[in-house]
Amino acid sequence: MSTAVRASAFTEPTRPKGLLIRFVTTGGSYVDVTGHGEHFDNNSWNCLGCGDSSRSPEKDYLFRIRPDANNHATACRAIPLT
Ligand SMILES: [Zn+2]
Repeated sequence: MSTAVRASAFTEPTRPKGLLIRFVTTGGSYVDVTGHGEHFDNNSWNCLGCGDSSRSPEKDYLFRIRPDANNHATACRAIPLT
């Protein structure tokens, strides 16, 4: 059994400025984490599939944003529409 992460069936969109992490989602879209990085509290995530994003708080340290973004990527089944 292969444990390799399957490649997305969709073309990866252009990487925005300030992109720190890009998670591929279950639906084949992407969750982007952007901000100033590890030592700043202005990082956030947004999903390119369903449009959901980080909130409560909207922006936070990377160690708090990262697991939420990864969990959303695991759960999100929306496919990219563009
Ligand atoms: Zn999503």
